[in-house]
This record gives sequence, C-alpha cells and structure tokens, in this order.
Amino acid sequence: AELQAAKDRIALTHMTRVSTLGQLSASIAHQLNQPLAAILGNAEVAGKMVAQPHPDLAEVQAICEDIVKEDNRAAEVIRRLTALYKRGDVKLVPLDLNELVAETLELVRSEMLTRHVAVVAQLAESLSPVDGDRVQLQQMLLNLVLNAADAMSDIEPEQRRLVVRTELDGSNVRLDVVDNGSGIAPGSLKDVFDAFWTTKAGGTGVGLTICQSIVAAHRGRLTVQNNPVGGACFSATWPLRHDEQLRPRV
Ligand code: ADP
Repeated sequence: AELQAAKDRIALTHMTRVSTLGQLSASIAHQLNQPLAAILGNAEVAGKMVAQPHPDLAEVQAICEDIVKEDNRAAEVIRRLTALYKRGDVKLVPLDLNELVAETLELVRSEMLTRHVAVVAQLAESLSPVDGDRVQLQQMLLNLVLNAADAMSDIEPEQRRLVVRTELDGSNVRLDVVDNGSGIAPGSLKDVFDAFWTTKAGGTGVGLTICQSIVAAHRGRLTVQNNPVGGACFSATWPLRHDEQLRPRV
C-alpha cells in the first residue's frame, strides 16, 4: 500500500506538471509573439529610415526605445516562466503554518504600510504541524497578498483591509487571503487561474497559475470567491498530514 501511495504521489506530481505545461505552452507562444512582432516591425522601419538621405534621428531614437520596451516585456514573460519551471520538487515537511504566515507578513510589512493596507492575521489556535513546502507556500502567500493589495489600490486608503486566516477544516488545513478590493467580475471567476489572464497594465497573469500548481502539488485546491460585502477571498486547502492519510489503516 505504501509503494502504491508513493507511485500515486509521483503520478500526481507528474500530472500536475504536464497539465500546467500543456496549458501554458499555447499561451506562451501568444504572449511572446506580440513583443517579437513589434520588435521586428520597429526594426524594419528603423532600418528603412536610416537608409534615407536625411533620417529623422529623433524618430529613430523613439523606435529604438520601443524596441527596448518590447524586449523587456518578452524578457519578463521568460523570467516568470523560468521561476515556474525552476521550482523543482515539493518537499513536504511538517511545519508551523502560523509561523510561516507571520514570517511572510513580516516580509511585506513595509510594502503594505506604503500601500496603506491594514493587515490582520487570524491564526488558528494551537495548530499542529502541517505538511508543506516552506518556500513554495511562502511564494504562494506572497503572490496572494500582493494581488490583494493591488485589488485595493482603487479604494480609500483607510478602508484597505487584508485578512490572512488559517483554519483547521477536518483533516485539511485552510489558508484564506481576504481583501475588500475590487473583487472579480462574476464572468471572470473561471478565468483568474488561467495562464496569462490578467487585467493589470503591467501584469503577467502567471501568479495565480503558479499558486494553483503549488497547492495542487500539496494535493490540495486553490479556490476563489467574491465576498458578499465586496472584495475577493482566495482559499488554499490541503491535507494536514500526508503520511497519515497514505499509511494503510490497520
Ligand atoms: P497578475 O497579477 O500578473 O495579473 P495573476 O495570475 O496573479 O497575474 O492574477 C490574474 C488576475 O486575477 C489579475 O490580473 C486580477 O484581475 C485577478 N485577481 C487576482 N487577485 C485578485 C484579487 N485579490 N482581487 C481581484 N482580482 C484579482
């Protein structure tokens, strides 16, 4: 039974990777084609302009600046993707989730102050150790917290409130990140986890895809809903202990 459980785990990890890869590949092509086409077009125009007897150098310079901008856009897509693939295997070890939340919130303390976001941690009392990958869970929480702060940028500074909550939910643990920002248009709730789906001018739309694959590697689920009073609530739920669940019962 233990061997089977180990095999299942490997298969699951592989499946998660493969489906994420498949989902990503079409979007990557699309996402990179845009800046590449812009760079090509600009370079062709610049080439023709400098071949003129009296080229408008200010215009050529503006075109070069556009090329640099588009190149940076493509590089950013690649940078985010490399971060996704470099993740490596998840190492599930017993950890103190409340401590991890506190540490992560400490990391973003000054960022939240600058953005006038009041942060409230509602941590489950006497939470026993939870199986998880410290680095990856931290990466996920950072993503969710920064997204929440972005979503609140259009409301009055004194109303911006972020709640990070840990809770026991049967044999699962749940981590909620709740904001009172713009919320998600009901028609878009199904899209937010899609790779490259973004509503932000400088967004890459990869953050939530990464978060989702991190929770999936913990054999859990990342869901989102709008709060009745406004804003969004992202919930990551995964089994408290993996070994205990996989061990055959006697
Ligand atoms: P990015 O932040 O680069 O756009 P993400 O994958 O992290 O990429 O997010 C995708 C989109 O989901 C965002 O552009 C935004 O429209 C929406 N979103 C994410 N988090 C929130 C939130 N807390 N409130 C409202 N919308 C959100």
